[in-house]
Amino acid sequence: MKVLVAVKHVVDYNIKPRVKPDGSDVDIAGVKLSINPFDEIAVEEAVRLKERGVATEVIAVTIGKANSQDSLRHALAMGADKAILIETEAEMQPLGVAKLLKSVVEREQPGLIILGKQAIDDDLGQTGQMLAALVNVGQGTFASIIDIKGDEIEVTREIDGGTDVVALKLPAVVTTDLRLNEPRFIKLPNLMMAKKKPVETIKADDLGVDFNPRLKQLKVADPEPRKPGIKVANVAELVEKLRLAEVL
Ligand code: AMP
Repeated sequence: MKVLVAVKHVVDYNIKPRVKPDGSDVDIAGVKLSINPFDEIAVEEAVRLKERGVATEVIAVTIGKANSQDSLRHALAMGADKAILIETEAEMQPLGVAKLLKSVVEREQPGLIILGKQAIDDDLGQTGQMLAALVNVGQGTFASIIDIKGDEIEVTREIDGGTDVVALKLPAVVTTDLRLNEPRFIKLPNLMMAKKKPVETIKADDLGVDFNPRLKQLKVADPEPRKPGIKVANVAELVEKLRLAEVL
């Protein structure tokens, strides 16, 4: 069974994003980009399935600019067998990404498709759901455990205050939550080996898909600065202050 994993190249999670002075977007000029953390979890899960003999091949795919290859190399270094870059300079949004991923699904015919539950740059959390609908397969979102049993997959999903277990017919789409696994540390030799693994590049424009944006971003703003705290002498004063603030 082939496993297809979608990885997005995003602003590194350690970076505090800066908003452009005109508020039109986040400024990513010169900012470190890396694999979306939920997608790293997706790659880890796919590679574990291969190590357990459940998957035969792990294919990583990304849609974006040429530099998105770095995230594909990361996936290859973790153990993915091959990588596909769908190259475009265009602004990408979930529906366009899902449509392009659909064309890869049609070509590769994976038994399982794993995406992150959300990309930490746009926090949209839509692509997996849209892809499942477009490909007409079931979806197990926010997965914290997956278990493949014959031609079905059991997905334990993180929901408010608990878990929900669903069974889906394969092929299916799964989106990863934080607790699914802890991605492996990549050793230097694996990074070097990843440089020799194949990355196929396809121009997004050649796939005959309408991936034009459907949403217009109107404004991006920094969070309100936090008000400075105050020190209180004792609990009685604290309770008094809270009462005044109508918290109690
Ligand atoms: P989003 O719906 O944008 O929050 O993204 C959810 C998931 O869809 C991500 O964790 C990725 O697995 C996948 N995804 C989103 N954008 C891309 C992209 N440009 N290339 C590859 N995968 C993507």
